[in-house]
Amino acid sequence: AVNLKEDRLVRQKVSRDDSDDGIEAIRRFSRQEYFKKREQKKLEEIRDDIVDEEYLFGDVKVSEIEQRNYRYKKQIYEVVTKRSQEDDNMNMYRMPDAYDAEGGVNQEKRFAVATERYRDLKDGDKMNPSAEQEAWEDHQIRKATLKFGSKNKKLPENYGFVFEDQIECIQGQVIGGEHVDDEAYQEEHEKSKAKSAHKKLLADRKTLPVYSYRESLLKAVEDHQVIIIVGETGSGKTTQIPQYLHEAGYTKRGMIGCTQPRRVAAMSVAARVSQEMGVKLGHEVGYSIRFEDCTSDKTVLKYMTDGMLLREFLSEPNLKSYSVVMVDEAHERTLTTDILFSLVKDVARHRPDLKLLISSATLDAEKFRHYFGSDMIFEIPGRQFPVEINYTKAPEVDYLDAAIVTALQIHVTQPPGDGDILVFLTGQEEIETAEEILKHRTRRLGSKIAELILCPIYANLPTEIQAKIFLPTPVGARKVVLATNIAETSLTIDGIKYVIDPGYVKLKSYNPRTGMESLHVTPISKASANQRAGRSGRTGPGKCFRLYTAYNYSSDLDDSTVPEIKRTNLANVVLCLKSLGIPDLLNFDFMDRPPDEALLKALELLYALGALNKHGELTRVGRKMAEFPLDPMLSKMIVASDKYRCSDEIISIAAMLSTGSSIFYRPKDKRVHADDARSNFHMGNVGDHIALLKVYNSWKDTNFSTQWCYENYVQVRSMKRARDIRDQLKGLLERVEIELTSNPDDLEAIKKAIASGYFPHSAKLQMYGSYRSVKHPQTVVHIHPSSGLAQVLPRWVIYHELVETSKGYMRQVSEIKPEWLVEIAPHYYQLKD
Ligand code: ADP
Ligand code: MG
Repeated sequence: AVNLKEDRLVRQKVSRDDSDDGIEAIRRFSRQEYFKKREQKKLEEIRDDIVDEEYLFGDVKVSEIEQRNYRYKKQIYEVVTKRSQEDDNMNMYRMPDAYDAEGGVNQEKRFAVATERYRDLKDGDKMNPSAEQEAWEDHQIRKATLKFGSKNKKLPENYGFVFEDQIECIQGQVIGGEHVDDEAYQEEHEKSKAKSAHKKLLADRKTLPVYSYRESLLKAVEDHQVIIIVGETGSGKTTQIPQYLHEAGYTKRGMIGCTQPRRVAAMSVAARVSQEMGVKLGHEVGYSIRFEDCTSDKTVLKYMTDGMLLREFLSEPNLKSYSVVMVDEAHERTLTTDILFSLVKDVARHRPDLKLLISSATLDAEKFRHYFGSDMIFEIPGRQFPVEINYTKAPEVDYLDAAIVTALQIHVTQPPGDGDILVFLTGQEEIETAEEILKHRTRRLGSKIAELILCPIYANLPTEIQAKIFLPTPVGARKVVLATNIAETSLTIDGIKYVIDPGYVKLKSYNPRTGMESLHVTPISKASANQRAGRSGRTGPGKCFRLYTAYNYSSDLDDSTVPEIKRTNLANVVLCLKSLGIPDLLNFDFMDRPPDEALLKALELLYALGALNKHGELTRVGRKMAEFPLDPMLSKMIVASDKYRCSDEIISIAAMLSTGSSIFYRPKDKRVHADDARSNFHMGNVGDHIALLKVYNSWKDTNFSTQWCYENYVQVRSMKRARDIRDQLKGLLERVEIELTSNPDDLEAIKKAIASGYFPHSAKLQMYGSYRSVKHPQTVVHIHPSSGLAQVLPRWVIYHELVETSKGYMRQVSEIKPEWLVEIAPHYYQLKD
């Protein structure tokens, strides 16, 4: 196979041999210009950030993550600024350094690709921001062609242009390669081929590393109550171990519950296991996630999110319907998993018949063993082929762009069929952007390149599309999986040979001082980076492209990710633990203690919301709030709607806020229409919450018509989900004895109910359109551009959530009157005289 360095050679060859030097030079130059501009824009954003943050750091204590983000940004900024200065001094674009290498690449093998982008701009497929630039480039090229004359109108067969925007990589170390018995593996694999689908599934089960440990594992479970299981991702822990236990008869005494930190994992693993067992999903094998219970009386293997097991404690504190509980993905150390550790540890003490399995993908099991006082660590040696690590030469300013270019580079230079690509991105939006750009670029290349199948995977993706990532890649094509962190350890996708790792993840970070929580895109840890790299070496030797430098890796990344419990808002779990009757949280048996400050802050918030009294005991309001599987502020808003006689409206709003995905969409050829449709709901500057209500009600008035959604550029999927959630919230209203009352015309009452939950998220307008948190004026935020109030800038607002991208943005904003704050939360806000 041709590697990336050689690929660059091809391009050199093209520009030297091709007599259209003029064209090539201009093409390259303009491209360079374009990227420079783009880079500069990004840099400016980063610089603004740094300035903002420096200003803020002056008087605010910030979290570790924020500090690290800041340092990282600053470093990128410095390196890149320096680099572009050097470039300026040389007054030329940088040449790839492989210019003089001979390489001896076989002519035929070079299948470089024409970047059609310069040619067929006529097809109207304009995409911002590059379209304008492309048009200009095209114009320049045509001018050049006229001037120099083009000798070859048609490009010679074996030549072409490779993408001009390339990412330069340097090869680093090779990791893994132990425990590989290539021949035995291939043999097993051959055996499992060419059988009927179900037979193949069964045969595949036997090729998993865990299979050879079946008997010893069952023995261990028999002999010990608590077992720590450690095994590489993909060794079969999640799908196989519960089946083994079922086959061994453990389900005669109760269910086997297996928890997952992510909904997608719970659903997809349950689907897989039901297939392997040849039963219908929801019967013997089922899953349970928030707002969706796919189990029945028959269910014996239950995959669920950790949050659902936590909620089951509320109704069944000794988990008596379970014979085995497996806390899976323990290494992830999510907040809920951490809380579960303590609760299941306690139950196991009272129920000697309950088997407890803690499974983890990393070798850091000693800590778990110690915490659980277990004497059994069961190790499943993984099968890890060697993985070649590549780093970029310099930090990449725009990692999304770099990731896309790298994926295309791999695709066009490596023969299709030799392996799929896995790209780690930080969230749905980013994945959708990447998908759009990749689609656009590959469409232009048409049949000149092998088919590239795009497979996005993130939490809110509908199940049918999720299943696509597991389908085998057709011959002659290549799959690109665009995944969030979910593909790091929770899901294993076979056939991945290339991993592209931009080095970022979206993490919650919490500032206990201000009580503000936000989502940050933040550098990953070394442990994560290595997990990600490992995903490319499961079925053969792999390659990992890290879009950061070797220096970044060794000196900027933390060794491991800080457990969530140390960096999050604890109000939710505190409320849950309180309703479980655990009075003294300061002495709770945490595996890692959260900062006391964060605990106190959570207690304080719950007190302000009226969920706890001043002795820290659960109030009636708090008891009601705990019934809702929602954040305390959202549940408070629902409970408060009783007083304002608008529970009907409020649960619609709460459901719309809880869909987790965007409601509106903007197809790129119909942006204007989409924006018009959307502005209808915002008429009268009612604010985003009321706009959401209007969307829901209009949809309901058309009898939940799909056509209506299309006409209004509203996502059908999100709406259906909102309707499901709303139905459940309605059921819960009954349970906590809140009457369903409607008050559609009194917008003030509705907004007051919202403010009753969200008063801590209030902000006041400053000069230049920025806002300051009312309670914590050091915190400067902005209205998210997608808000209906982004142009209106009301003086006082409340917001649903804070997202941190280039700035701190408030999402879902409504205008309020300051008097409401004093009226609703007199213990939290006082009037200054
Ligand atoms: P572990 O939990 O040890 O990481 P799993 O039990 O999740 O391993 O995975 C074992 C095998 O099952 C992997 O080869 C994976 O590809 C396959 N697998 C898991 N879930 C699915 C699914 N939903 N569809 C197809 N294959 C799956
Ligand atoms: Mg697993």
